[in-house]
Amino acid sequence: MRIVLLGAPGSGKGTQAKLLVERLGVPQISTGDLLRAAVAAQSPLGLKAKAAMDAGELVSDDIVLGMIRERIAQADAKAGFILDGFPRNSAQATALDTLLAELNQDIDRAIHIQVPFDELLKRLTGRRTCTQCGALYNVYFSPPKQDGVCDRCGGALMQRDDDNEQTISRRLRVYEDQTQPLIEYYERQGKLATVSGSGEVTEILRRIIEALSV
Ligand code: AMP
Repeated sequence: MRIVLLGAPGSGKGTQAKLLVERLGVPQISTGDLLRAAVAAQSPLGLKAKAAMDAGELVSDDIVLGMIRERIAQADAKAGFILDGFPRNSAQATALDTLLAELNQDIDRAIHIQVPFDELLKRLTGRRTCTQCGALYNVYFSPPKQDGVCDRCGGALMQRDDDNEQTISRRLRVYEDQTQPLIEYYERQGKLATVSGSGEVTEILRRIIEALSV
């Protein structure tokens, strides 16, 4: 099963992708996570990507497509994957189709997770991530038992560098301008399903599973 998760920053793509991994047994591929790992490792690629990420702009297609090509070729992705945060513009979407065609593969379904604008803002400003295991929290909606500490592994929680107000509004605008057109792109291919991303995490997962008919 090859799935694209579409949705604004803060729509819950990462949370749902992690749950789908358990459910479907295929890996999550998040270009945001791959880029953040490259930045943390201070690799040449990470150094190139950092300025765009800090500004809330898209990292160049060359960099992101190179990462995707490498990741999709790995053994665990042979039977499928869940793309989270990729593709992010039309050029990436067509490049992905070409890349998959070369491998005799295809996207099965694009799930658009729809969340009202006001809710996105609160989700992004309240978001915290565990530095050790990657677990996600929100100080408004799903706080950890102890402030700043992961319930699962005891790791320290942090706020992403780009989850500040100025960068958030830029990221939301970039989404509207560059990523939203992909909804139509996948609709034209007959692959799109839109689900509401409001409500309980497990209920949203149920909607996605239903839309995938698995
Ligand atoms: P995310 O974690 O998906 O919200 O991504 C965080 C940041 O990484 C974005 O604001 C972009 O700067 C960069 N990024 C992630 N995925 C992509 C992509 N597919 N194309 C370009 N930039 C990306």
